[in-house]
This record gives sequence, structure tokens and C-alpha cells, in this order.
Amino acid sequence: MLTEIDGFAWQGGILDRRRVTRCALARLCGVCGETLGRPIVFVGDAEEEARNTFHLPPLHEACARSLLASVDEGAVLVRTGGFEFVRPGRDDPDPMPRFEPNSRV
Ligand SMILES: [Zn+2]
Repeated sequence: MLTEIDGFAWQGGILDRRRVTRCALARLCGVCGETLGRPIVFVGDAEEEARNTFHLPPLHEACARSLLASVDEGAVLVRTGGFEFVRPGRDDPDPMPRFEPNSRV
């Protein structure tokens, strides 16, 4: 599980919705909470990659790599110049806010 080690935007494996939103709006890294540069990196599983929709907030590349190093299972890393932040609608089958990378780099 990518959230096994606590980060700025999650604790005990549970995403903190307020902090996820703060990462999105203030462009902060979900692991360390510091301002993001470029490229912005998302990590997730193969299904998230296939949908181009990620639940973990944007990350620094170094922070993303340290997360990936902590897991055995297949996780993917996507680099992008930017992203859309998607808030779930009332009847959305996925109740969590999420991120859609654009222009992969
Ligand atoms: Zn970071």
C-alpha cells in the first residue's frame, strides 16, 4: 500500500481529505507538504493509470520515489506538467477527490 508510511496528506493509510484538497489548491507535495516544482509526479496502481485518475495528491519526484521504494506491489509513476483536480459529485460512485494529470512529460 502506497500510504503505508505516513505523509503530509494521509495517516494510517487513510487519505486526509482536507489535506488532499490543500495539496491540490496550494500545489503542495502530499508526502512532505512543501511547495511543488516541476515535473509534478503522481503515483498509483495500474487501474488508476489506465483511468488517468489518481487519488494520492501530487508529489515531488524524490518523494514519489521514496514512496515507491517502500512498496513491493506494482505501482506506477507518472510525470506531468499539470493536472486537473476533480471533486466528486453528489452521486459520484467514487467519493474521493482525485487528480487527472495532463500533458505527461
Ligand atoms: Zn515532497
